[in-house]
Amino acid sequence: MSFFGTGNSGNIDKKKYESLTLSIRQTVLERSHHRCQKCSVKFRGSNGPFFEHINGSLKDNRPSNLRSLCCQKERE
Ligand SMILES: [Zn+2]
Repeated sequence: MSFFGTGNSGNIDKKKYESLTLSIRQTVLERSHHRCQKCSVKFRGSNGPFFEHINGSLKDNRPSNLRSLCCQKERE
């Protein structure tokens, strides 16, 4: 478990982003224009999207911590 300690997000925020909800997914997808943020392929059918947690914390589902990818192999 890692803790992302920026110090500017309170407990309410952490609770709110504990799970990857549909509206969070939508926000991330709209921001990336429904494209993979690595290879820019457009999402369609079985072609993703998968969501990667940039800081590695699965409990931190803020849109700023998420990237949309076309396939899980692109995770580092
Ligand atoms: Zn891709």
